[in-house]
Amino acid sequence: MKRTILLFLLILSLVLAGCANSAQNPSGAPEPAEPDSGQSVYEYGEPNIIASNEGYLYCYLLYPKTGNTDIDKTIYDWAYSVYTDAQEELALLYEEDTALEGEINLQYNAYLVRDAYVGIEELGFYSHSHMAHPTNFVKIFNIDLTTQTLIENDKILDAAREADVLALLRGKILERYPDMTANVEEMDGEWLENIVLNHDGIDVVLERGEHLPSAFGLLTFSLPYTELGAAFILSPASAETPITQTASFEAVLSETTTPPPAEPAPETQLALPPLLMQDGFDPDKPIIALTFDDGPSKVTPRILDLLGQYGARATFCVVGNRVNSYPDIVRRVVAEGSELIGHSWDHKQLTKLSADGIQAELVKTKDVIYETAGVSPLLYRPPYGAVNNSVKTVSASLGLSIINWSIDTKDWKSRNAESVYQAVMSQAADGGIILCHDLYGSTADAMERVIPELIARGYQLVTVSELLSASGAPIEAGTVYYKR
Ligand code: ZN
Repeated sequence: MKRTILLFLLILSLVLAGCANSAQNPSGAPEPAEPDSGQSVYEYGEPNIIASNEGYLYCYLLYPKTGNTDIDKTIYDWAYSVYTDAQEELALLYEEDTALEGEINLQYNAYLVRDAYVGIEELGFYSHSHMAHPTNFVKIFNIDLTTQTLIENDKILDAAREADVLALLRGKILERYPDMTANVEEMDGEWLENIVLNHDGIDVVLERGEHLPSAFGLLTFSLPYTELGAAFILSPASAETPITQTASFEAVLSETTTPPPAEPAPETQLALPPLLMQDGFDPDKPIIALTFDDGPSKVTPRILDLLGQYGARATFCVVGNRVNSYPDIVRRVVAEGSELIGHSWDHKQLTKLSADGIQAELVKTKDVIYETAGVSPLLYRPPYGAVNNSVKTVSASLGLSIINWSIDTKDWKSRNAESVYQAVMSQAADGGIILCHDLYGSTADAMERVIPELIARGYQLVTVSELLSASGAPIEAGTVYYKR
């Protein structure tokens, strides 16, 4: 008991030390979350993922599955080609350099436009050991929901008015970069290759270094529907009121709902990790921690239901930029006694980032977790489990401990409930940390057997904080833990 109190104080001091260095001060009023504009529908469709963390390629490609077979095939084929192209290139390089490492990361934003269209913007980067700078790339998919088809660019903008659109774009570029007069003197249709439908207008995305200096990075310029005028020709085929003119488009836009009121700030100022005080815990019985990475997703509630059914807890390692898409699920994790920790903001391999980059990934994620669920995690899981001295140093300065795993289900690879079940049951051991992903239905299927059978074998299913606390040894910031 005394040891538990000491541990409590230690953890409290870690929290305070960590917070002093972080951008946010939890003892003050939290900054209100950015009000959701209501237009971003990141959760459009089911997030699907092509993942790999073996060998020389670290890959995390996120893309939506819309439910329409043709559209989904087009999107999947493109995402898969990103993966296989990199795989092929790296396989050749690997023959020469077995220390080679490559990474591809792909995220998407989806925008719902007056319930008639969805614009999907896939933003990626690709890098490997022999590259001086990562390559950024973008791919746009605009969907007409009424006809369930992809929309070609020439159905969005009138080709005959291309010069008008380019003049508008030129104006927007010069507004932001007045020195670029020479660069925008001669523009052609290629500047309008990546256009994504958004709520108020068309976003033109320019790839890094493609038309403007690469130091500017990837650029997005918004061309409002009101300013595009007659150049904007899109009209949903089967909409009751065809929209052929900007005016009527605006009228429909203005009917869209106002953003929901911001959530009241959570009252909890500091959430301490649950110590070994939870009901029924027996220090003499074996413990094991299930961890779920890459969520939250639509699969997460199934896993929470199962945990609740068996009185078990787990740890959910959430990707920061997914939290605002599923705030209720994130709050539910905490409300039901499971642990919520970060897994970076957008799943970049932290070992490839500068110290500032690592800090930004961790702080942003900690902040969105705090703003959404009112807890300040003391632990996090790095993407791919990748850690180096820089990651450890930054983690220590933020008061964060690093959690990896001792049992890998490789559920992302097999997507097969039986394989996941076998992987857990064959490797389960006292004090173990099990790696799963709450992205796959097959993982949730596996949990239907894994959770009751682990309990039947005498395991107590605890959170990672509980598991680490059980050893009685201090949990140190900046240290990597694989098991108790
Ligand atoms: Zn992950």
